[in-house]
Amino acid sequence: MANALKYPHMKIVTPCNGYVGRFAPSPSGHLHFGSLVTALASFLRAKSQDGQWLLRIEDIDPPREVAGASDSIMRCLEAHHLFWDGDVVYQSNRSDLYNYYIQRLSDLGLTYCCTCTRAQLANLQPSKLCHCANQNIRPSNSAIRFRHNHSYQSFYDELLGDVDFSKHDMPAHFTIKRKDGLFAYQLAVVVDDLEQGITEVARGADLLDATLFQLALYQAFDKPAPKFLHFPVVVTQPGKKLSKQNHATEVNSNDVSTNLINALGFLGFSLPKELKQESSQNIVNWAIDEWDLRKVPAITECIDNRIGQADSI
Ligand code: GLU
Repeated sequence: MANALKYPHMKIVTPCNGYVGRFAPSPSGHLHFGSLVTALASFLRAKSQDGQWLLRIEDIDPPREVAGASDSIMRCLEAHHLFWDGDVVYQSNRSDLYNYYIQRLSDLGLTYCCTCTRAQLANLQPSKLCHCANQNIRPSNSAIRFRHNHSYQSFYDELLGDVDFSKHDMPAHFTIKRKDGLFAYQLAVVVDDLEQGITEVARGADLLDATLFQLALYQAFDKPAPKFLHFPVVVTQPGKKLSKQNHATEVNSNDVSTNLINALGFLGFSLPKELKQESSQNIVNWAIDEWDLRKVPAITECIDNRIGQADSI
């Protein structure tokens, strides 16, 4: 076995036998209404089943990080009574783990090093590998790409049912480690969901297509994939997700009850009038009791035309 790496001793949350969910924000901005909706939905999904809800800060892209965002996201979650279980996991502490998993893929012959620029790759047909795939390029100053075998073209989503991408042109590769040495989202998210024993990945539908790439990695690691569930995302106009990049404003933690009522409304739950004066903690407790996935709108419109852009996440 070419693998000389020892299994890194990371602090890993012990999976329990029941439901383990997570919220995994990137600290590229403060918590906005759209991310509050996703946090609340995934929290309610976990807590309505007496499950665990873990918090993972996906801080693997320092150039996109906003100073203080991790802390402000956590304070905002706490202000909304969204308390996570166990210790917060920071992806920035887990490089050894990601390298270990990349080595495993390399040992299986599923990766290649590539020096192509984004522009060169953009000129390539999505189903073709670049010339680097047939050369023995050294890892320094090159990206590591995963050979995508396309064995998954559809999957079952707990809210949306069968999601079929078979009519889309899937790229023949995707990046797992960037040329600048940073780990790619697809790799890190799968490694962490595996290592943290996540039983269901519940997140926004803007990441629907990423699921196919992630399923390919679970298969390569020979591990069972968690279930997937994609909630509707808040948009500013059809097809445009409310996001940090389009200047979504930070959730105001002085108005917790209103934020919760609005987020619940977006998810299909309307608080009875007599409860509107209740404390915000009681609103969350009510929502845990009332949670019913069948009430949540199954909407994916905002993700149109995203297929193939997984590397940009
Ligand atoms: N870190 C990603 C984001 O903030 C979410 C990743 C995931 O839930 O899989 O959009």
